[in-house]
Amino acid sequence: MIGVSVLGSTGSIGVSTLDVIGRHPGRYRVVALTAHSDVEGMLAQCRRFRPDLAVMADPGAAARLRESLQAEEMAAIEVDQGVDGLERAATLDQAGTVMAAIVGAAGLLPTLAAARAGKRLLLANKETLVMAGPLFMAEVAAHGATLLPIDSEHNAVFQCLPAGFREGLERVGVSRILLTASGGPFRELPLEALAVVTPEQACAHPNWEMGRKISVDSATMMNKGLEVIEACWLFATGPERIQVVIHPQSTVHSLVQYVDGSVLAELGNPDMRTPIAQALAWPERVSSGVADLDLFAVGRLDFECPDLERFPALDLAFAAARAGGTAPAVLNAANEVAVAAFLERRIRFTSIPEVVAATLEGMDSEAVGDLDALLDVDRRARERAIREAQKRPL
Ligand code: NAD
Ligand code: MG
Repeated sequence: MIGVSVLGSTGSIGVSTLDVIGRHPGRYRVVALTAHSDVEGMLAQCRRFRPDLAVMADPGAAARLRESLQAEEMAAIEVDQGVDGLERAATLDQAGTVMAAIVGAAGLLPTLAAARAGKRLLLANKETLVMAGPLFMAEVAAHGATLLPIDSEHNAVFQCLPAGFREGLERVGVSRILLTASGGPFRELPLEALAVVTPEQACAHPNWEMGRKISVDSATMMNKGLEVIEACWLFATGPERIQVVIHPQSTVHSLVQYVDGSVLAELGNPDMRTPIAQALAWPERVSSGVADLDLFAVGRLDFECPDLERFPALDLAFAAARAGGTAPAVLNAANEVAVAAFLERRIRFTSIPEVVAATLEGMDSEAVGDLDALLDVDRRARERAIREAQKRPL
């Protein structure tokens, strides 16, 4: 039996992960689950999967969960709280595999802890790599963790690279990585209408069902920008070898171009259970519950070049990737602040990239120091981004 800890189990990726695990009860056992404050969601997952440990980041929620578990005679499930609890869930001896699916910078410390514990680490939390790429990759290498990408594009690239690939795209004859992007819900909206779109419209993604933060990131295409940076770290390359291709059907999940002209792609229905099952079972395969791809129903595959006037966030992310150092961490922090302000109806959709750009302009990129220095950069970038957001009230 393979013990699995699911960090962020009540979210979109967490629920999909448990769906796949639930299809293979003889193969996987859930040893820990974590969530922020959704006690009802956690309780339902505890009933079904009976983990050893359930962690609520929020202490009040942890107290409520403990009471409910006792009332339902599940007191054998230990409850913990806070960042310490999340780190415990990420490092339990019984868990050989850890799914890192907390959203945003909140995922950094537990994901780093899993890397330091040498786990087989299924990485959905792309913000960890964007914020702390050099530190995180060094911990993965130092502690022999096995890093498997869950983001559908990176999982597709991973599948299209030669088995056992670690680094050196040139060495294996790869000339370019082509990351596909759906273009989100506003790909064809008249540009002048972008300023008045609502959070509900931004979260209504045409192909994928995801959490609210990544849905807004998909609408601005900052998500693809974060993914460019993520790909640089995962595949040990620079942004010049990565091209973003708009592909509205989300059937081709990404492609790898080789020097001989071959282009390999991974295709499938847009359902995160496919990359999750691929990484859980790798190098074997297990069923995921995803329907077979019906190419006749898909009918056609379209590709376009992204319009940077419509999607300035993509340009900002490429610039941060080229600048390196702390620029990606600043980009990430400012984006989290701006997206939260948009979701709370404090700024316009079009102010999101403005806040990020203004924050980046105000902070020179520095070499990445230790974790404390990085957390300090993150904090300063957030303070600055909050001020920039306040200058742009709705
Ligand atoms: P979500 O908002 O649906 O779920 C987030 C999870 O993290 C929840 O379980 C929540 O309780 C937990 N969480 C939130 N804030 C927390 C905090 N402060 N402390 C501890 N836990 C906290 O998000 P999601 O869509 O599942 O995305 C999770 C991650 O996976 C993100 O980094 C996202 O970019 C990445 N990702 C998601 C998808 C997708 O299809 N949803 C695809 C690719 C990558
Ligand atoms: Mg993705």
